[in-house]
Amino acid sequence: MSGRGSGISWLRASRSRRWGLVGSELTMADVPLGPFAGSLITVYSAKSKAAKLHGSRQCRQLRTSDVMTAKVSLDEAVLRRLCTRCAARGAGGRPGTGLGMFLLAIGETGLLCHLQSYREPDEDECWTDHEARGAAELLRVQQRLDGLDGEDEEDDASLRKAREEAENLRGLIFSHWCGARGSLLEAEALLTYFPWVEEWAKPSLRIKARYLETLRAQAARFVDREELVVAAAAMALPMPELPCADPAFAVLGGSRVSSALVRLWRRWQSTAARIWEGPGARAYLSCEIVRGIRSSQKGRGAARAEAARLIESWEELARAAAAPLDRVPKRRLTGHVPHASAGTPRHVVTDFLDGLDEWTLGVLVTWAVQPEWGSGVLTLEVPDLVAERLLGPASGLPCSPADWTADSPKHEGRTGSEPGRLRPGVFDDTPVFDRCPVTLDHIRALRTLAPTADPLHLVFSASGGAEVLPLSTLERRLTKGWLGVLIAGASDLPASLIGPEEPERNHDSEVRATQLPGRGQDVHDPHFGESLGLAEGRHRTLRQTYGTEARQLNLRLLALARGAHDLRSLDAGRPSGLPTEVWHGLLTEDRLNLAPFRKPGSNRRGSGSALPLGPLAAVQLYTTNANPLIEGKGHSPLCRHAQHSAAVVRGDDLLAVADLMARTDSDWCSKCGGYALRRLTDTQLSYYRAAHRLHDIKEQLDNQTGGPDADPSGVIACLDELATWQPVDDAEWCSSDSWQWQETVRELTRMAARSHAVTRPS
Ligand SMILES: [Zn+2]
Ligand SMILES: [Zn+2]
Ligand SMILES: [Zn+2]
Ligand SMILES: [Zn+2]
Repeated sequence: MSGRGSGISWLRASRSRRWGLVGSELTMADVPLGPFAGSLITVYSAKSKAAKLHGSRQCRQLRTSDVMTAKVSLDEAVLRRLCTRCAARGAGGRPGTGLGMFLLAIGETGLLCHLQSYREPDEDECWTDHEARGAAELLRVQQRLDGLDGEDEEDDASLRKAREEAENLRGLIFSHWCGARGSLLEAEALLTYFPWVEEWAKPSLRIKARYLETLRAQAARFVDREELVVAAAAMALPMPELPCADPAFAVLGGSRVSSALVRLWRRWQSTAARIWEGPGARAYLSCEIVRGIRSSQKGRGAARAEAARLIESWEELARAAAAPLDRVPKRRLTGHVPHASAGTPRHVVTDFLDGLDEWTLGVLVTWAVQPEWGSGVLTLEVPDLVAERLLGPASGLPCSPADWTADSPKHEGRTGSEPGRLRPGVFDDTPVFDRCPVTLDHIRALRTLAPTADPLHLVFSASGGAEVLPLSTLERRLTKGWLGVLIAGASDLPASLIGPEEPERNHDSEVRATQLPGRGQDVHDPHFGESLGLAEGRHRTLRQTYGTEARQLNLRLLALARGAHDLRSLDAGRPSGLPTEVWHGLLTEDRLNLAPFRKPGSNRRGSGSALPLGPLAAVQLYTTNANPLIEGKGHSPLCRHAQHSAAVVRGDDLLAVADLMARTDSDWCSKCGGYALRRLTDTQLSYYRAAHRLHDIKEQLDNQTGGPDADPSGVIACLDELATWQPVDDAEWCSSDSWQWQETVRELTRMAARSHAVTRPS
């Protein structure tokens, strides 16, 4: 290995290499655009003919204040003029649209990057095949030497250095093999969505596959296949009877002998998976057993020697179990590696192999069958013992017998009309009139290719009309044959409706003032009850959300969610559900004061006015448990005491305020009050205020014991105004409710007139 840098520097370089480009430079303009050719994109540029085009107005390369905006149809010429920074970021296709996903997937961190990396060793960190062979041989010899009693202090420095370098090279080759494999798989997975790019990409893929095979063969040289089988046998052995009564171990201290031997056995078994250390390291474990015993103590040496003999007997058991017949690879397995066309985020796929243990990596480089092009499936042909280990619960790589899995992702994705293929017209990049039905593959593509998929979509089907659904519900329905189109995701909603995303500062202080003790209580204050309303919900969401982008998304989610009839239908499971801030915008833990609607004559202070609940009857409340027969208090879905935190879930109970009024048996949590209210619509809030004003007037008139405390003509004017209350939207004001309301107003007006006569005798 003369004339080379130290192994350490190879390793340092290996990480950054993933993005290093080798060979001919491919650019976005070279990629066939297929059905996306001619799609309209918005570009920004300076006002000169040759100026670069930018996909984003905020691009740092756009150094002018005089920016031209244009909608252009996508073609090679446009892509050639695109600034490289914007090209890498998806060229300005809106994320979550078909076009946006396509441009991002082929862009300079996607397909183009993969096609140009891991094609051949590059100049900065290459090694020759001869060097790789030498390093493997050196490590093999060293492993054997470790087994011979290795307290040899004469270990000379140059040998140690050579060994270190060989180990570094081994690490480098394995890490390149993992990277090359991940990169090839991801390139293939991306192509399943864009099949028209396949022919164009094939030559590059062939080069990548060839280099991957070179790396695999080099990596395999560091692995002794016999040892892999023996290690599998060792890991599978049941614990043999341990010689606890052996007098040689008495020095360990009578009662501790058996636990020390069990520990030794476990260490020995787990060390088997660390194949870089080899059988030598296992033999060396005999030192472990006498650790902590003074070297002068009598019997120490004998105990160690006995432990070494014991370990040797275990090694023999393992070797016997790995009888030569078992070393022939004859079982075919399929390894379940994360696959990008199954809706897995892209980084999970490429980094998967990095997390595997040495033994499993050794098995992969030794027995992986040359993959079929584009299959994306990992097939292994392994000896029985290895198969059992891989199929067992302790396997680092979940596997199944190969003949079961006829339904590989390849077969799903590539038959007939290629349902997985992305084209314009599924997501929001064409008029609604041209929308195509969405399929499960489209949703998977969205999950894989969009940096973040909108958690809620407005969808339309002929069977169910327009609905707001979480992605996971949509997926479930699609597996059952649901036919519909996506109208818009949350981020597709027009900015003109969503409004500014900055919280209004002075509004906050205004609201807070009405919530001060005393002030918010005044039912005649125009802000009375404001904390229950929709506007306050929006403020809550904004106040709790940080970052402009998150605010814009949350406001859109809030707007979409408000159209859901039953909020439980928005439950999408924990990680993908709505953010807590949005739930606070939808729900409030403040309480309605229902006194105006209660029957009069209850003995509590401030008896009821028996006003109709009117539009408030339907106000929803969500609780974790409304059934007194089911054990456990009811909690607000936002209560920290509830098991799931801060979201309405499918299993919650839904009541209406009318139900709440009718019951006395509920068992509510004392911290949260037991439920959260769905925020009041404008009509509901307006009615709530009107009812409280009416109730307040009634109380005043009922309680007039002494002198007058209100101006009677003012009271009558107020009643006149309340008589005209109407829903603020065009909803019907139910006739019996309306009659009851008018009746109460008339009654109070008579009382006011009478008290006027009494207090002001003329
Ligand atoms: Zn740019
Ligand atoms: Zn206000
Ligand atoms: Zn609670
Ligand atoms: Zn509680």
